[in-house]
Amino acid sequence: MFKRMTTAKVNDLHFKYDEKTGLKAIIAIHNTLLGPALGGCRIIEYQNTDQAIDDAIRLAKGMSYKAALANLPLGGGKAVILKPIKIKDRALLFEAFGRFVNELGGRYITAMDAGTTTEDMDAIASQTQYVTCTSTGGNPAPYTALGVFNGIKACLKLKGHQTTNLKGVHVAIQGLGNVGYELARLLYENDARLTVADIDKTKLARCINEFNATAAPADAIHKVNCDIFSPCGLGSILSKSAINELNCQIVAGSANNQLALPHCGEFIHQRNILYAPDYLINAGGLMFVALQHKGAKLDAIKKKIEEIGTTLHTLLKRSLSQNIPSSEIADHMAEEVLYSSQQSNRPAV
Ligand code: NAD
Repeated sequence: MFKRMTTAKVNDLHFKYDEKTGLKAIIAIHNTLLGPALGGCRIIEYQNTDQAIDDAIRLAKGMSYKAALANLPLGGGKAVILKPIKIKDRALLFEAFGRFVNELGGRYITAMDAGTTTEDMDAIASQTQYVTCTSTGGNPAPYTALGVFNGIKACLKLKGHQTTNLKGVHVAIQGLGNVGYELARLLYENDARLTVADIDKTKLARCINEFNATAAPADAIHKVNCDIFSPCGLGSILSKSAINELNCQIVAGSANNQLALPHCGEFIHQRNILYAPDYLINAGGLMFVALQHKGAKLDAIKKKIEEIGTTLHTLLKRSLSQNIPSSEIADHMAEEVLYSSQQSNRPAV
């Protein structure tokens, strides 16, 4: 256990079993150097506890890097609930989880993630103040989409396109869920041409009808000849073989952990395709929940989300001029922010 924590530099791992509700949950806190650790809570089926621990550790680390690059005073944390075969009472389960979060006294703030809903966040909120994404708070997905849209414009600028209007720009979107749908809407409203894919036929039909999009098979959308491939579904889709099949100039989408393995960033770079690092371009939702939790106004939040385009532009220019994959530059930039704060002796939370 400690070997895994040392490798990922994760500070703490908390486990909770609640006999009454059957809750089995893990909270991983990567670090709190920049502030309390904010990150979602997912409830999914895991093959075993080890897999759940690894997921929590990997995701918590990603949140630290995301917050650091987004210049937010937050650390990185993530919670996973091992989904029981049958949930007796969902509200009671999440209330028990809320008490678990509360016991950490604010070191960890929870949010929505895979499998959780605003109703679940409301149940958590009945037990703790350290929660976001409640039904009064709003859905972060449109803000994640706005950040991806800003990032796409920054990539296009680097490729010499004008960006006041996206006429003539062809985007292939994989996954039309909460974020993919909102991104499709923004692109359509700015005159981009869309090719889309989703394994869910209803979501696919909605985008075809509303945004005049063309459908592509879910397993071939990454091969579409287009300007931008935008992964907004699953993670780990950029394997070496998938990267070889890309037929675009830019990869820019919301999915977390897009690279199948860290060194896959090198393969994209070698193919001379601009890659927008996932945890930078998809930080709009985090910016929304973090700033809203502090009571910021919507205009200020949107202004903050514009920073994604600026940071991405700087990062990609550095990647091109130094001939280093953008994924590596992103890790360096995040680590600079994270660990220089340690040197300046900022008190940990
Ligand atoms: P979602 O579950 O609403 O949507 C995902 C969509 O992808 C679904 O419509 C699903 O049917 C589709 N999909 C799944 N497998 C597919 C496949 N093989 N081919 C094509 N489509 C497939 O999730 P979301 O909230 O829209 O998030 C999308 C991605 O962005 C996820 O990776 C998520 O972790 C990441 N992300 C989301 C947010 C947010 O604010 N929601 C923030 C940061 C990152």
